[in-house]
Amino acid sequence: MSAPVILPPARLGILGGGQLGRMFVQAARTMGYTVTVLDPDPDAPAAEFANLHLCAAFDDAEALRQLADSCAAITTEFENVNAESMRWLAQHTVVSPRGECVAVAQDRIREKTFFQQHGLPVAPFLPVTQADDLDSDLSDYLPGILKTARLGYDGKGQQRVRTAEEARAAWQQLGVPCVLEKMLPLQLEISAIVTRAADGQMAVFPIAENQHHQGILDVTLVPARVSTDLAQAAQQAACRVAAALDYVGVLAVEFFVLEDGLLRVNEMAPRPHNSGHYTLDATVSSQFQQQVRAMCGLPPAATDLLRPVAMLNLLGDVWPGAGTDACREPDWQPLQAEAQGFLHLYGKREARIGRKMAHYNLLADQANTAAERVAVLRDTLL
Ligand code: ADP
Ligand code: MG
Repeated sequence: MSAPVILPPARLGILGGGQLGRMFVQAARTMGYTVTVLDPDPDAPAAEFANLHLCAAFDDAEALRQLADSCAAITTEFENVNAESMRWLAQHTVVSPRGECVAVAQDRIREKTFFQQHGLPVAPFLPVTQADDLDSDLSDYLPGILKTARLGYDGKGQQRVRTAEEARAAWQQLGVPCVLEKMLPLQLEISAIVTRAADGQMAVFPIAENQHHQGILDVTLVPARVSTDLAQAAQQAACRVAAALDYVGVLAVEFFVLEDGLLRVNEMAPRPHNSGHYTLDATVSSQFQQQVRAMCGLPPAATDLLRPVAMLNLLGDVWPGAGTDACREPDWQPLQAEAQGFLHLYGKREARIGRKMAHYNLLADQANTAAERVAVLRDTLL
């Protein structure tokens, strides 16, 4: 389908109403659009900002029909949406990204094969779909990580294995198609977020440096502490992926920077990304505004960095008594008192350990300074 320009107050639809959906809805409504959210959770974080919340399953035929009939364009906030639902919607209205792109991103075997086919180096990996796949010589992949091909996120669905015996035992436990991936010596992790319009125009946000804690993104620093050449190589690689997929929308690509300085593509997400939340306060446009623009047939906005920034993820862990009846809201005073600090709460009622509840963007003259200050602020919460 060609890309008509969709102007406000047209209605836009989004599959998923978590925090990414919530920030999409906030951007879209500020830009003058009307928004329908489809999410089975009555307390979906996006619902309170949406004009309409369809509280139904993602493959609910009636809800999908209503979305298709009422929305000028539809997007998604997560990759595990039924690609079939997206293909069906695309027969009736404008859907971006295409279900086919989402299908590649939601399966590590397809995803890594796709990167390789397009000349983007990945960690050595072996698809494991049946037990005897692990009977061959595994020395190229060990020590390694066995990752489920589908539905893994935040380090879930992964097991580190040192020997072939451990790999076989781990596969028996996981019991689903996996990839066995060689453990690489990482210097750091970075990500690139690219927006591609229907006519092929692209704009990339500045490269983000990502620090994880227990498999979950903890801090993002921008600018990343890498050479200009490396940052450009990562931006170009992300653009190459988006172009090869004939992608429309916001695409996040995660990379490893190895100890010897080489770049390896890790994975992609067919949507705005946690490591792009800094764009809400630190760049000319945000990744959510870009998502709206791309689906509406508008050219990508400028992506220049206004100030160095550290983004701190705030998990349920900082809620005193998280996961119990005695759970309390943290004292936000120290964070709110910062003149260049911006708290984004997702409106989730229940704080649980490891649950993404909010993030905090702190701007400073240097990313390092911002990182030190968010670390101090986090300590005041804990
Ligand atoms: P998820 O979908 O859970 O984000 P990833 O593949 O990104 O899965 O893995 C989560 C984290 O595990 C990465 O951010 C990185 O820190 C570590 N990791 C994953 N694969 C490798 C690898 N091949 N070598 C070293 N570390 C890895
Ligand atoms: Mg990842």
